[in-house]
Amino acid sequence: MRVRFWGTRGSIATPGPGTVRFGGNTSCVEVTTDGGACFILDCGTGARELGAALMARPHRPITATILLSHTHWDHIQGFPFFVPLFDAGNRITVCGPEGSAHSLREVLSGQMEFTYFPVEIGQLPATISFRELGEGTHEMNGVRIIAQYLHHPAMTLGYRIEADDAVLVYLCDHEPFSEAFSHDNRAHFGAEYIAHEGDRRHARFMAGAGLVIHDAQYTPEEYPSKKNWGHSTYEYAVDVAAAAGVRALALTHHDPAHDDAFIAEVEDRARAYAKQFGYAIQVCCAYEGLDLVVEPHGARHLPDAPPAPQSGRDAIRGNRILVVDDDPDQRTLANLALSQDGHVVVEAANGPEALASIDAAMPDLVILDLLMPKQGGLEVLKILRSRPATATLPVVVVTGMDDEKTTRAGFEFGATDFLTKPFSLPQLAARVRACLARTGNGDDPTVR
Ligand SMILES: [Zn+2]
Ligand SMILES: [Zn+2]
Repeated sequence: MRVRFWGTRGSIATPGPGTVRFGGNTSCVEVTTDGGACFILDCGTGARELGAALMARPHRPITATILLSHTHWDHIQGFPFFVPLFDAGNRITVCGPEGSAHSLREVLSGQMEFTYFPVEIGQLPATISFRELGEGTHEMNGVRIIAQYLHHPAMTLGYRIEADDAVLVYLCDHEPFSEAFSHDNRAHFGAEYIAHEGDRRHARFMAGAGLVIHDAQYTPEEYPSKKNWGHSTYEYAVDVAAAAGVRALALTHHDPAHDDAFIAEVEDRARAYAKQFGYAIQVCCAYEGLDLVVEPHGARHLPDAPPAPQSGRDAIRGNRILVVDDDPDQRTLANLALSQDGHVVVEAANGPEALASIDAAMPDLVILDLLMPKQGGLEVLKILRSRPATATLPVVVVTGMDDEKTTRAGFEFGATDFLTKPFSLPQLAARVRACLARTGNGDDPTVR
C-alpha cells in the first residue's frame, strides 16, 4: 500500500515562506493499494494538486473513492478544485459520516452554491456518487474499510484500511476523550491500561497498524487553552499508538500558527518522548510530498469489527432524552445542545425524579450528572443496570471530575460514555449522536 501526503495543515491553508517544508495545504492523503484501488483521505486544499497529478497519469478513466473524516472546511475545500470531477467518464465516490443535519451531497453542494463558486455540483461532468457511512466495516473496491467515530465537535470518522496484508489508519480530527490518560504514561502495557473506554476503543481501532496518521495539532503546553476544540497533542498520539503496537506514526493536521521550525521541534520532541518510554515506534511529522510505503506486515484484520448498522440520519434525531442534573444551568445547556438535533428533552433534578421519569416513559438515552445531593449518579446508574428494562439503556455520564479513578468507576458501573464538564454544545450533541448510532437505540425504542 502506498501513501502520499498532499495536505498536512489543519484549520486553514497556510501558504508562505514559513511553511515551505511541511506545507500549507489542508488535509489530503492519497492511498493506492497494490491492486490499484485509489482512496483519498479528506479533500482539503491539497486535493487540487492531487487532482492534477491524477490527470497527468496515464490511467483513464479515473476511479477514486474519497473518504471524508467530516465536513469542516479544512477537509472539503479542495473538492471544487479536484479536477477529475470536471472530466466525463471519471467515477468518483464520496464517502463521509452520516448524521449531520444535511446529506453529504447537500453539504458539499452548499460550498459550491453560486454565491461561493461558479460551478454547481450538478454541473460537474464526472459520475459522482455519495455514500454516507456509519461506524463499522464497509467493503469498497475489494478493500476492507472500517470506520469508527472520533472525538470532535462534529460527527467525524476515523478510517482503517486493510489491504495488501497491511493496515493503514487515518485519525483526523480527534482529541483525547479524557485527560486522565495523557498524564499517565503506561501505554506500553497495552490498551487496557487506558482510563477512558473511548481512548481504549481508539487504541484498539489502530491495533497492529503498519502506519497511523494522527491529528497532533497542539503541544502539551498549548492543549489546556484549546481543550474541547477537537484536536490532540503529539504525546497523546504517541501514547495511544504505542499502546496499540503501531509500527509507524505520522503526525499531521499541523496548526496554522506553527511554522517549519516549530513543527521540526515538535517532531524532535515527539521522538524524544517515544524514546523516553522505550516505545518501539517510528514517529515523523508529515509534510506535503511525503511518500510512504506500508509494507506487508502480516497485518491482522480487526477481529471484532462489527458490520455497519443500517441506521441513517433519522435514527439519531428526534429521540427522547432524559437530562439528570441538579444544576438548572447545566440542564438548560444540555437542552440547547440536544433540541437542535430535534430531540425531545425531559429533565430531572435528582436521582429519584430520574427513576420516576424513566418508569413513566422510557427515554432513548439518559444524560446523568455524577455529583448530586441525596442520590449520586453512580448509584442511579447501578439501579438502572440492575433492572432488565434499563440494563442496556444508553447512559452518558457527565461530570466535572475527570480523574482516572472516577473515569474508570463510571465505566465499571456501566456508563455508555463519560463526558467531562465543561463541554461545548456541539461536543455534547456529537457524543449523543455517536452513542445513539452505535447502540442503534433510535431505530426502535422497543429493542433493548
Ligand atoms: Zn480539521
Ligand atoms: Zn474539524
